[in-house]
Amino acid sequence: MCGIGAFQIVRDEVDPAKVARVLLRLLEVRGKDASGVAWHKGGDTYICKENCAGADLARRLTKDIGTTGIVHTRWATKGSPTIAGNNHPIDAQGIVGVHNGHISNDDDLIKLCVDYKRQAQVDSEAIFALLGHAPKGWTLAQKVEQVQGNASLLWLASHDKSETLHASRLQSSPLVFGQTAKGSIIFASTKAILLETFRRCDLKVDFIHEMVQGTYLQAQGG
Ligand code: GLU
Repeated sequence: MCGIGAFQIVRDEVDPAKVARVLLRLLEVRGKDASGVAWHKGGDTYICKENCAGADLARRLTKDIGTTGIVHTRWATKGSPTIAGNNHPIDAQGIVGVHNGHISNDDDLIKLCVDYKRQAQVDSEAIFALLGHAPKGWTLAQKVEQVQGNASLLWLASHDKSETLHASRLQSSPLVFGQTAKGSIIFASTKAILLETFRRCDLKVDFIHEMVQGTYLQAQGG
């Protein structure tokens, strides 16, 4: 039952590091084995993660981070949190993502990947590996249809200058987003955590949507 979150802040509405810290603290109830944040900045993608609870990482996250990012608090199902590669955000050589859920066919998913060497034991790595390393020509739908288990996913493509935020809810695991009137977007695992994040960041929700199973969306510039 990990916690996942994301943000895409426009027009300097709020400091993105503040949003990341609030999400880390609030999502901690969904898992304390490890926590992490990833963000786009200046054409690069950065990851900050540790095997500590979200509130602890939030205290250390003082950096000036980018305006589009993803957040995770982990309740480990497979792969020890003492090994950094098992903690999220997971860098699957081109795709940096966070996952809530459990995948039962992760070994099979890795076998489908082209030119990909598994880096850790966590099941989640297999989904992001397939997103970035599926056989040529596969659509996103073909990739996610291979996944057996539960998943809500948020991810960034490494070195993506457009700073696109990707979100998908496959099965069971919840995912909700809200948007301000100016266009900033925040995602969280639950509506209660999302609304409290808006409140603590002094942002007003204009629109809220609980993602339906089997859907994908992407956001650029809010
Ligand atoms: N299976 C993933 C992991 O072990 C996600 C866990 C979860 O959502 O509870 O990190």
